[in-house]
Amino acid sequence: MSAEQPSTVTLATSDHGVVTLPEPSWCLGHAIHDPETQYADIIHSSPDITLTFRHATLMTACLVQSPNATPRAAGLGGPTPGVSVYPLGESLDPVQMYDLAARIDVYADQLRDLADQLTRILGGVDR
Ligand SMILES: [Zn+2]
Repeated sequence: MSAEQPSTVTLATSDHGVVTLPEPSWCLGHAIHDPETQYADIIHSSPDITLTFRHATLMTACLVQSPNATPRAAGLGGPTPGVSVYPLGESLDPVQMYDLAARIDVYADQLRDLADQLTRILGGVDR
């Protein structure tokens, strides 16, 4: 019995014809694929995690990798997997993601401080 074969995906491209490449386990898949996509523009993406409040999408993030892209400037994607963050419009590395999460923690504290202040104002304690 052999080890489990790695997963692959076969896609049409406008410049390299039909290509087969390794499919990361975290990739959502390529059910919606434009055959006019260029080889270098093939991108693996995980499902988005989304922060919404009422009807507004405040932030989304997902794993991304463009395995055939030439390495680009930091934060603009490429063959190294990263986390794409909207509306930032950049792909972040793990250290940057922990920094973002820490800043969101601080922001959440500031929101709670505002709610506390508003409660005091509405209660007539603080004018
Ligand atoms: Zn994929």
